[in-house]
Amino acid sequence: MTQKVLLLPGDGIGPEIAAQAARLLKACQDAGLDIEVEEALVGGSAFDVHGEPLPAETLENAKAASAILLGAVGGPKWDKIEDLSKRPEKGLLGLRKNLGLFGNLRPALLYPQLASASSLKAELVAGLDIMIVRELTGGIYFGQPRGIEERNGERVGFNTYVYSESEIERIGRVAFEMAQKRGKKLCSVDKANVLEVTILWREVMERLAPEYPDVELSHMYVDNAAMQLVRAPKQFDVVVTGNMFGDILSDAAAMLTGSIGMLPSASLNETGQGMYEPCHGSAPDIAGQNIANPLAMMLSVAMMLRYSLNEAGLAERIETAVGNVLDQGLRTADIVQEGEVSVSTVEMGDAVIEAFNALA
Ligand code: NAD
Repeated sequence: MTQKVLLLPGDGIGPEIAAQAARLLKACQDAGLDIEVEEALVGGSAFDVHGEPLPAETLENAKAASAILLGAVGGPKWDKIEDLSKRPEKGLLGLRKNLGLFGNLRPALLYPQLASASSLKAELVAGLDIMIVRELTGGIYFGQPRGIEERNGERVGFNTYVYSESEIERIGRVAFEMAQKRGKKLCSVDKANVLEVTILWREVMERLAPEYPDVELSHMYVDNAAMQLVRAPKQFDVVVTGNMFGDILSDAAAMLTGSIGMLPSASLNETGQGMYEPCHGSAPDIAGQNIANPLAMMLSVAMMLRYSLNEAGLAERIETAVGNVLDQGLRTADIVQEGEVSVSTVEMGDAVIEAFNALA
């Protein structure tokens, strides 16, 4: 059956990198992939046309798609919109909420060719391959009650850190299954020495463990995890954690790899439907110059093929093609080192597609 992919280029460099992803999807179709690709507006570009960052038509298209590929949203042009519900980021949050995308997968994978671009010593990060599984729709970012109010003559700000057993269990299962497909090691990150909600988190992870006897489960406090990520990052295989800790740790892990322009991400719901996007934003400072790195976006296509379209073979072919292009010494400006020549967004796209086709 033909599966539907919705492409949402978005704002800033979004359309430039999405154009390379669209060409890669075409190459996959030529290689036999049975998909239909539609495009729609989201974020600031949708606001400009429809007055909404997530038009009803885009949401309907997203619901009907097997997978969504998003460039990035936002930019200074829209930062002054007073009604916060109309800001570009609300388009993204609306998609996550409406599609129930609770499981965020953020790989931190360092291509050995780029080890010297990391802020850590090359030997600490060469071959780094961590998958951070972050709960995305619960925890302190969404807990009620929340607010700022007057108490005893001064203003008090408060949020609620809450997780139900079922929320913990479903993200736990995503993480255990991920560990089974990878190095079979799962580290659950919490703050169980201080926070009751994470005592429950730890209990649920322990309860699930016997169902995955091939996976070795360990626990780590979040402060230690932050330290270990910069001390000895290669000790991690799969890390599972809540929304806020995951937000912070995944950014730190991303930077270990040297360039945010290399990292894809996925957000999945219970049916396996997913939204795939680069970890970076819309980079308004370089938009329109044909210098953005399209590799995070092209690697997002690979993740989409693997996790939503059940096409692991094609996913691997894209990842190998990216490695081959790096072997050829091709670099966009963000990852170029002294003595190397940088290529444009389109030239990088050309090279990946050529390498992909050569692997047929
Ligand atoms: P950013 O990730 O857009 O940019 C940070 C820095 O990294 C910039 O110097 C940028 O030029 C560089 N960069 C990012 N992606 C690159 C790429 N592919 N190739 C080369 N260089 C790249 O983060 P920011 O500057 O904090 O945010 C800019 C806008 O993006 C804001 O409006 C923000 O709200 C939005 N944003 C969107 C998303 C998303 O759509 N998922 C995520 C983060 C930020």
